[in-house]
Amino acid sequence: MVSAGQPAQVVGRFAPSPTGPLHFGSLLAALGSYLLARVAGGRWLLRVEDLDPPRVVPGAAEEILRLLERLGFAWDGEVVYQSRRSARYQQLVEQLCEQRQVFDCSCSRREILLSAPHPGEEGPVYPGTCRLGPVGRRSERAIRLLVADEEIAYTDGVFGPQRQNLMQAIGDFVLRRADGLFAYQLAVVVDDIDAGVTQVVRGADLLSSTPRQIYLYRCLQQPLPDYYHLPLVLGADQEKLSKRHGPSALITQQNSSLAIWQALRFLGQPVPDELRRASGRELLSWGELNFDHTRISTRAQLAPGL
Ligand SMILES: [Zn+2]
Repeated sequence: MVSAGQPAQVVGRFAPSPTGPLHFGSLLAALGSYLLARVAGGRWLLRVEDLDPPRVVPGAAEEILRLLERLGFAWDGEVVYQSRRSARYQQLVEQLCEQRQVFDCSCSRREILLSAPHPGEEGPVYPGTCRLGPVGRRSERAIRLLVADEEIAYTDGVFGPQRQNLMQAIGDFVLRRADGLFAYQLAVVVDDIDAGVTQVVRGADLLSSTPRQIYLYRCLQQPLPDYYHLPLVLGADQEKLSKRHGPSALITQQNSSLAIWQALRFLGQPVPDELRRASGRELLSWGELNFDHTRISTRAQLAPGL
């Protein structure tokens, strides 16, 4: 029980997608979220984001968890799997429906492209076509959230003040796709609310998703978590690190402790050279005593050689 006047306990989380082995970018998110929670004496939760069945690689989730465990990451409570939570997501969509904040959309991607007034940073901005009833020609319906024409402003713990007008940048966004799958934006917010997460630490590629998620928290009348976005990791071609870059940045049993040392350096932490050969557990202990998020840079950096 948290009594009045006492700050609530920090609850952080790491939420890997089991689309392949852990790479340096996801290790950063694991380490950053873990240390930010632990330096505050908080809890740290694990969630597997296996929402999109065709992208899930069998066995990848177990492999990621085993590697984290071997490195000395200790999580609190049971691991949550998004693939088992559809009924809960549906319940929240129904709540938003009762609040008259969603509508059915029958537009195809092509129809949206043709009618969009201007492209947003994530493709065409949805122009509100079906707000008063579906007018697209497709028989399958997506469910979209009505967004307001107002600026969403927040302060990121690393990137500082951020703002976005959702209607102008994104438009009414999808909560449930026409194929019945729930959208990432909805699942993340519902999972974090249900788990009592107070601190979201993740890669800067998700900065542009954050205003949508904040808007959803508001629609669901829930308090916002704090956000900390970590600098992007680049491959040798200066593009965001991904599976496309091959095995060079993958975390294996052999390179995993060194990868933690490098991840601490990547996050601007003055981890001593003598700890370069230390175990994961020793490096995490060093981090629990010394981690300081104000040292993290916003600049994207090349992945270290592992
Ligand atoms: Zn539509």
